Amino acid sequence: MKYDVVIGLEIHAELSTQSKIFCECAQQFGGEPNTRCCPKCVALPGALPVLNQAAIKYAVIAGLCLNCHINEYSAFDRKNYFYPDLPKAYQISQFYFPICENGFVEINGKKIRINRIHLEEDAGKLIHDDIQGISLADYNRSSVPLIEIVTEPDITSGEEARAFTEEVVARLRYAGVCDAKMEEGSLRCDVNISLKPKGAKEFGTRAEIKNLNSFKSIVRAVDYEIKRQSDILDRGAKVKQETRRFNDSNGKTVSMRSKEEADDYRYFPDPDIPAVLIDKTKILEIKESIPAMPAERKKIYVEDYGIPEADADLILTQKEYSDFFNETAKYLDNYRGAASLFVVELFRIINDKGYEGEFKFSPEQFVKLVKMLDEDKITKAAQKKILWLMFDSGKDPEIIAKENNLLTVRDVEGVQEAVRAAIETNSKAVSQYREGVEKVFGFLMGQVMRQVGKSASPDLVREELLKALKG
Ligand code: ADP
Ligand code: ZN
Ligand code: MG
Repeated sequence: MKYDVVIGLEIHAELSTQSKIFCECAQQFGGEPNTRCCPKCVALPGALPVLNQAAIKYAVIAGLCLNCHINEYSAFDRKNYFYPDLPKAYQISQFYFPICENGFVEINGKKIRINRIHLEEDAGKLIHDDIQGISLADYNRSSVPLIEIVTEPDITSGEEARAFTEEVVARLRYAGVCDAKMEEGSLRCDVNISLKPKGAKEFGTRAEIKNLNSFKSIVRAVDYEIKRQSDILDRGAKVKQETRRFNDSNGKTVSMRSKEEADDYRYFPDPDIPAVLIDKTKILEIKESIPAMPAERKKIYVEDYGIPEADADLILTQKEYSDFFNETAKYLDNYRGAASLFVVELFRIINDKGYEGEFKFSPEQFVKLVKMLDEDKITKAAQKKILWLMFDSGKDPEIIAKENNLLTVRDVEGVQEAVRAAIETNSKAVSQYREGVEKVFGFLMGQVMRQVGKSASPDLVREELLKALKG
């Protein structure tokens, strides 16, 4: 392509505080329409906002996770616009003095800079009923605390935009400040995108694609815009600065409004809310309370524990998994074995049965199960079976093994007997092996295993068979 792609993101994330940002109503998704509202969040005359301190703390945490500078002084402003999702006719936001500035996130070794993160309130939700020609308003979401993360235009592809958003989502989740359920709208992404001739210094005119609610639609919307804008530029025409909407069903973007129609928000400081002051000690205290981020954990998994990178990534897909794994690591030396059991069999079980946020068994029990295989007390097949039973019952693996006859039998005489029999009946294979055809060993091993049964120790069988073949 003869153009450079320039992208900047604006990510809205709802903070998972207990209550809303300016009142005591519950901050929860869904609910019967207009049941989580009070005079403050629907702006009845005379109602005054009271700032939720937890929202401030969560915004600071988000800022620290994204390498931002936290401003010791920040303040709220009124962003004026008239639309029925906002009964006050202004949104309380931070315009002149945002709470966080100058952050960055590294994606594949490249720094994507964050210009600012500001706090604001969410608006209500309108449901348009085209058939009856009416619109319904639900204010349960109004005044839910939001942060808006604004990047510099440092992103150069749809995949990079996706990777950046994924990293932000992971960090906010690990920090516990946003559940980032894009399908429920608790994290939404606006993509600003423009093209410029390859190598040119000056940016082109951008379009802003509003409210993308999945990683996939971020990539699709960017791809569509690259095509649309490059066609315009190829014709020698000009891209219009406008706000566009992405249609998930046909993968296209359509114009919502042009710059000329854009609102003039007439920002001014909100006189109802005092400025927010946070001192350095408080910021430090918050910083120390933040759990380790995925990248930091991955480094330990891969470099210190020797776990394959792909396994580490899988364990890190949820903080609960990683926390559980970290607990097991305290009692463990076979990290690779534990990781492998986790991502292969435990994930298979989770896929089948679902995961409710915690396991019924403890990290110690999981470690015990890893060690039982390492110490040759059970076979690999038995280990898997025990894990399924542990998942359902939370019972101790040793008890499960005994109850279900899954303990490996170390019946030396029985094994020796079976080895003798196998050698007698397979004299051809035996002489082949003795002449150096090593691959028949597996066949002989199978013959003995068939005799002694699944619960026999494969190590013991191997040992005895080797001894007999040498003799
Ligand atoms: P506004 O004042 O209109 O909100 P901003 O300067 O705050 O505009 O930018 C909003 C977002 O658009 C930021 O993420 C920024 O990086 C991005 N952006 C700005 N200019 C461009 C451009 N020419 N192409 C792509 N993205 C841009
Ligand atoms: Zn309320
Ligand atoms: Mg802006």
